[in-house]
Amino acid sequence: MASLATLTDCNAVEAALEEFDRVGRFAFLEKYGFGEAKEYFLVTETGSYDSKAIFAAAYERQHGVGLSSEDFSGGKHGAGKWLSDLGYTIEGMESENGRITFDSFEPAMDAFRLSVANITAARDFVANRDFESFYLPPSRTYIAMIPRGGVRPTAWINKGFVWFRNDDGTQEGIAFPENKLRDGGRNSRQRRREEAEKRICSTPGCGMVLPANGVCEYC
Ligand SMILES: [Zn+2]
Repeated sequence: MASLATLTDCNAVEAALEEFDRVGRFAFLEKYGFGEAKEYFLVTETGSYDSKAIFAAAYERQHGVGLSSEDFSGGKHGAGKWLSDLGYTIEGMESENGRITFDSFEPAMDAFRLSVANITAARDFVANRDFESFYLPPSRTYIAMIPRGGVRPTAWINKGFVWFRNDDGTQEGIAFPENKLRDGGRNSRQRRREEAEKRICSTPGCGMVLPANGVCEYC
């Protein structure tokens, strides 16, 4: 196992997230030679990202050295921890003890204090799917939704978007009506958010975040 210089450059992480958004999940994983994450996802307002591959892409930007999946571990003793030390939220790392779990959506939404303007869109999303439980992680930064018979979430609601993973592993997002978020403090983060907003389908009432090819799959 390689000894890894620490990843310290948040701009390198932001650039990796930006590339992921731009090329799409599978092209990104293929480029860096990583499989799909099962457990550890980096969750932001603009999506959910395979954390080990993001780490490798950011590390390569900072240090000029490419990493393969065998070079380091993910999760608590590797990429997940290093990214969370940089201030990122890693789903799968947050303690299960600190979760608030709900068996229906309404109380989860109340506890999360979703903006009133976004409640109808959130309800519509959930009504069309079969989720068994919902939880707020200790950071309270999203509502994770676990499908019936599943053990891990496949969809996440945050303040401005819902992000979800399909059965084939592709990821999609829907923008809520109110998704202009207060500035998170970092310019590149703000820029990515604006990029994500620009990719929203313009058909009234659709709101899908467009895939990399720019063609809405729902219109
Ligand atoms: Zn559309």
